[in-house]
Amino acid sequence: MRLVLLGPPGAGKGTQAEKLAARYGIARLSTGDMLRAAVAAGTPIGQKAKDIMARGELVPDPVVIAIIADRIKEPDCAKGFILDGFPRTVAQAEALERLLAQRGLKLDAVVEIRVDESILIRRIETRIGQMQARGEAVRADDNPESLKQRLVAYRAQTAPLIDYYGKKGSLQTIDGMPPIEEVTQAIFRVLEKPAPAKAGSRPVQARKKASLKMPRQRARKAARKAKKKTRARRAVAKARKRVSVRRRTAKRGKVKAPKSARKAARGRSRRG
Ligand code: ADP
Repeated sequence: MRLVLLGPPGAGKGTQAEKLAARYGIARLSTGDMLRAAVAAGTPIGQKAKDIMARGELVPDPVVIAIIADRIKEPDCAKGFILDGFPRTVAQAEALERLLAQRGLKLDAVVEIRVDESILIRRIETRIGQMQARGEAVRADDNPESLKQRLVAYRAQTAPLIDYYGKKGSLQTIDGMPPIEEVTQAIFRVLEKPAPAKAGSRPVQARKKASLKMPRQRARKAARKAKKKTRARRAVAKARKRVSVRRRTAKRGKVKAPKSARKAARGRSRRG
């Protein structure tokens, strides 16, 4: 499964990403964590990103795209991954699509965690308190000034992705205001709900039944076969109906009976 989590800073993306990664046995890729690790290690990328991050601005697209391009090739991503904090711009989303397409892959879903902006500051304050209580260093960007800038960056550069993925039909919006566990359950529900089926449609039912047991490609093939069979069955029924109507009309002497009916009638009269 390949997922993207969208939402403003403080929406709870990191918390939910961990739960999703555990449930589906997929890797959690947080560009924020990766960049913070690079800053801590003093790598060239870290040196470049350090001040930008502290101000609450976005690190340049080519930098984060290169990080993700390398990361998704790692073996722990083979089963899938959840992206937390990436993409954050339309250019990043387009790059991600290209990176996946090169490997014959695509995203399964984009989950937007929607929260009221008014609670974000409070949530971040709580996080600061918790980190201090654990004796951890507080993030350089967890202060009122940078948080304001992070929200500005979110609204201007990241929020357009809601529309971007909405148009592609892959967006799922979740209310991020309830307690953590409720939000998690709501996300699981949307990701695990069966694909919508047209009532009474045989091929769709066949596809659903088949996909329970088979990998996607085989399920599609089975569904195509079922559709073909239904079409053939309908054509035979239609032809039979046509012949029987012509036979009935022929009996009444209105039109010439079909060849098959005349042949059958001759056989019958010869036999006596
Ligand atoms: P949050 O969601 O709480 O704002 P993150 O840990 O996801 O925090 O990101 C922290 C900072 O790292 C961002 O404010 C930004 O400077 C940088 N960053 C993380 N991901 C990206 C990205 N995809 N593109 C650009 N900058 C990023």
